[in-house]
Amino acid sequence: MHGTITRGTSTVLGRRELSHGCFVLRLDRAAIGRFEPGQYVVIGPEHSPDRREYSVYSAPDEPFLEVLIKEVPEGEVSRALHELEPGDSVAIEGPLGYFTISPEHRRSREFLFIATGTGIAPFHCFVRAYSELNYRVLHGVRYAEERHEYHTYAPQRYTACITGETVSEAYHGRVTSYLQQVSVAPDTLCYLCGNCDMIFEAFDILQHRGIDPQNLHAEVYY
Ligand SMILES: Cc1cc2nc3c(=O)[nH]c(=O)nc-3n(C[C@H](O)[C@H](O)[C@H](O)COP(=O)(O)OP(=O)(O)OC[C@H]3O[C@@H](n4cnc5c(N)ncnc54)[C@H](O)[C@@H]3O)c2cc1C
Repeated sequence: MHGTITRGTSTVLGRRELSHGCFVLRLDRAAIGRFEPGQYVVIGPEHSPDRREYSVYSAPDEPFLEVLIKEVPEGEVSRALHELEPGDSVAIEGPLGYFTISPEHRRSREFLFIATGTGIAPFHCFVRAYSELNYRVLHGVRYAEERHEYHTYAPQRYTACITGETVSEAYHGRVTSYLQQVSVAPDTLCYLCGNCDMIFEAFDILQHRGIDPQNLHAEVYY
């Protein structure tokens, strides 16, 4: 069951800087009704026609709505959103999307979440919303500081794959290189989120491992 789609404006409650160019925007959630973890909202500056999709980062039972945004240097909307201050308004629409987990799978199945960068957002929402999930997260980032709020995940369930520097408790290399080395049970439900190159490559690896395409879910950001 997915929430009713609404369109309106929302007030900025706060902004949390997490790493260079990455921030969490906290919004008043009155404009958006019930949503399912994994869904996204469409946001833009109030008096501009430009809007972009952002996965919901916070859990449905929290009294605000948060999105995790990477400011793209030449980007229209992400740059404008980074300049917002508490009290400013944004145009918002949602919830949208089907990158969700069905109730019957939540308790019974094993999950593999694979993200690049801010593609971690829907997984953050899943883990905060569903305490019973049996999951592993593989998170591809360039620098260690981009493992945003990774203490949300149990340490044995979270692996950062860092390409730009060597960190003792993380894998040094691309998330798809790490994926080549881990065993994945055939009936694992795999969720992939982030840039399309990673998603195509991970799809390929997992299909070659015998994962049924029905068990592969993807949310492409760009
Ligand atoms: C369903 C969905 C959910 C999404 N959720 C999130 C989210 O939770 N957090 C988030 O940060 N983004 C998310 N995105 C991406 C987001 O919608 C925008 O595309 C992104 O913020 C760039 O918008 P912009 O207007 O700043 O840049 P634009 O002006 O649209 O694009 C400028 C250039 O930057 C490229 N680009 C776009 N995104 C990135 C990126 N992340 N890194 C490098 N280059 C990029 C574009 O391909 C383009 O060439 C999501 C996209 C989709 C489709």
